[in-house]
Amino acid sequence: MNPSEPVRPSFATLCVHGSGGVDPQTGAVSTPIYQSSTFAFRTAEEGAAIFAGQREGYFYTRLGNPTQAAFEREMAFLESGEAALATSSGMAATSIAVLGLVQSGDNLLASRTLYGGTHKLFCTLLPRFGVEVRYVDAADPAGVRAAADGRTRLLFIETPANPTLQILDLRTCSAAARALGIPLLVDNTFATPYYQRPLELGADVVIHSATKYIGGHGDTVAGVLVGRADFIRTARFELLRDLGGVISPFNAWLLLRGLKTLPVRMDRHSSNALEIAQFLNFHPKVARVWYPGLRTHPQHEIALRQMRGFGGMVAFELKGGRSGGVTLLNSVKLLTLAVSLGDCDTLIEHPASMTHSTYSPEQMAEVGITEGLVRLSVGIEGVDDLIADLDQALARVPD
Ligand code: PLP
Repeated sequence: MNPSEPVRPSFATLCVHGSGGVDPQTGAVSTPIYQSSTFAFRTAEEGAAIFAGQREGYFYTRLGNPTQAAFEREMAFLESGEAALATSSGMAATSIAVLGLVQSGDNLLASRTLYGGTHKLFCTLLPRFGVEVRYVDAADPAGVRAAADGRTRLLFIETPANPTLQILDLRTCSAAARALGIPLLVDNTFATPYYQRPLELGADVVIHSATKYIGGHGDTVAGVLVGRADFIRTARFELLRDLGGVISPFNAWLLLRGLKTLPVRMDRHSSNALEIAQFLNFHPKVARVWYPGLRTHPQHEIALRQMRGFGGMVAFELKGGRSGGVTLLNSVKLLTLAVSLGDCDTLIEHPASMTHSTYSPEQMAEVGITEGLVRLSVGIEGVDDLIADLDQALARVPD
């Protein structure tokens, strides 16, 4: 290493100090919440110059706010991107990123296993505006190439995918996108930048539902996208400005607070999830377990190559199908029956009737979302308590 090159601090250090540290004006150690919708100009000329984009400066919170900027700076560092844009939700981040790249008559390529809300945006809303979505097996570069034409504008993937934890090889997907001259957009919500940094593996844009592990406490709905500075600038001044999915300063502050403990929480989510996956793997009422950290996971080798840890999400299929799942969900005592994920509390849900009910039965069958599939977002509680609760609930599931 060249001794004059700045040494990149460790990820954990960036999580604690990346937002800029102590406030130079007041000495505040915690980033101040700038709970202000508007910012005064010193002169009329300054206001006009800021509006015209000739001078940097805050003027209206829909287009930027110092607390939001601190979060964006930190997310850009953590994802190894040039810039970031925080939004009011993960869906706002996805819709802004996609709408910034397509127009009527265009099409986009998407992997088949996606969060149900993203899938609904692609299947229902985008076609209403003349944008076609072509589902592809993103692991197959020849198939991706064959699905594209001169109006293909992007490739969108999720890895690990919600809810079946399918893993896609990011280098393969980015090579396929590059060969077509289109950007690769990756929803990195499940992995977080602690475990996976798609931009370092050739992706162009990273999207998060920051509602999940970034916030980490189940108290905020928010999103963020990270990418090149010109892409983020367009997203802010041409999309966010008009669509209005802005994050509140308070929510941006909650995310900054969440980021400080991200590596600590993720290590605990991950070690708890591995123990639970191993417990379920040998349980007689469980037909199959999906967890990228298990050697039996079909893409375990890819996960080992591109992820630094396997995360807190586990999916499993009950032999008892839908009725087995209903009994299990109604029998847990410590686990919380709720959607969302990435909270400190362990959450349990049924994708076919909840998060992925936007899929048709045929689409569900295609991606392996069965009636007996149960999804766990493993929290940071004591793992023995979680296993004991699952064990007593599974005992109630009929054989
Ligand atoms: N991406 C993934 C992988 C998700 O699981 C979710 C929500 O569950 C979203 C995006 C959408 O995020 P939000 O609910 O913050 O809009």
